[in-house]
Amino acid sequence: MSAQPMSERRRGWCPGVRRPMATGDGLLVRLHPFGGRLTAGQARIVAGAARDHGNGHLDITARGNLQIRGVSEETYPGLLALLEREALAEPEGNGPNRLTALSPLAGLDPQDHCDALAVARAIEDGASDLAGLPAKFFVSVDGGGSMPLDAIGADLHLVATSRGNAIAFGLAAPGDLHWIGTASLSRAPEAALSILAGFADMRLSGRTEARRLRDLEPALAKELAVLAALAFAVPPQERPVAPHAGSFRIQDRQAVLLALPFGRCSTVQLTQAADWSERFGCGEIRLSFTRGLLLPGIWDEQIPMLMAEAARSGFITDADDPRLSLIACPGKPDCASGLAPAPVDALRIAETCGGLLPQGTTVHVSGCPKGCAHAGKADLTLVGRADGRYDVVPHGSTRDVTLLHLSLDEIMNRLLSKTSDIAYRANPERTR
Ligand code: SF4
Repeated sequence: MSAQPMSERRRGWCPGVRRPMATGDGLLVRLHPFGGRLTAGQARIVAGAARDHGNGHLDITARGNLQIRGVSEETYPGLLALLEREALAEPEGNGPNRLTALSPLAGLDPQDHCDALAVARAIEDGASDLAGLPAKFFVSVDGGGSMPLDAIGADLHLVATSRGNAIAFGLAAPGDLHWIGTASLSRAPEAALSILAGFADMRLSGRTEARRLRDLEPALAKELAVLAALAFAVPPQERPVAPHAGSFRIQDRQAVLLALPFGRCSTVQLTQAADWSERFGCGEIRLSFTRGLLLPGIWDEQIPMLMAEAARSGFITDADDPRLSLIACPGKPDCASGLAPAPVDALRIAETCGGLLPQGTTVHVSGCPKGCAHAGKADLTLVGRADGRYDVVPHGSTRDVTLLHLSLDEIMNRLLSKTSDIAYRANPERTR
């Protein structure tokens, strides 16, 4: 059993089972199951562990990981031993804890152009001994189907296209993805591993200090594309953004995607999901990067009963629910860095202004400028301040500078006072 020494635990790193992170509500322990898959039995064990060793709160993260909150120094050793015994602890080492992120529909989606699970597995296995990658580095492997991973914020994006079994390779860039080339499906894992090894080598040799591929100098990014022997870039087809709730037809059954407000999940909800997966489905739960749970293998006639029970238990089952327009981190007081109660304020916005938030609109309420819940831009970003107000950023991210600082009531009054575009309403230049 190996865990990070207590004295070395710090905020801001990439937490795992062996490396818990100190937060406002105690230690945070993050699990990284491959493909986000849990059996019903594993889900029950994790729920019991969160109840017995933590404060009963769990989060599903924007990469489809699961974190247990409120663990104490006294309860952590028992939790680590339990998760190791259940093979739910990451391998020893400095990470990344899990290199790949997938759609929860991977391996099931009839719209996919490849077996994304197999590609991801090959990348994980090939990079298991690779040193020099930053702990937060990750690769999205997108089969090109119903749930695009374009906004997940990966370092390297692999997207299967319908054109001749090709995989498009993209890097995160301001505002969009930058496509650097393509590889055949059979060569895709090898090409991805070349890029990973090349980037690690650049870091180890001191050629770059970039911690993410998006921060790499363009000439070095081009060098990586050459190293991977990528063919010329062909961007994949545009697709609608991934839904956060609803059902998907998988042959003669359906997969049901349940959302959780801001990814917050209680031990009761996780246990209930495990029960539903056995009663209605195939005994499997998949954690989704949309901050919810996918239950595969549900018969058509069981969908209404499952949806009704899930809605009663606090899951979001309707893709038009205004809460799905809001993103919020744990904020104050659960996070020690929090300057604002982000989830509480986000729910107030959803209740008061929900009718103004059409599907697809994003409002990001962040407890502080770190923006843990959402790295990219939103239609409206609110960043908590020490004076109790929010920095208001239309069409931007928590990293953008703004001169508009408003209380929550002032923000909601502005939203309610106009009837057109939400970001237009928040823009000080256009609302004078
Ligand atoms: S963004 Fe939210 S969760 Fe992240 S450090 Fe700030 S308050 Fe904490």
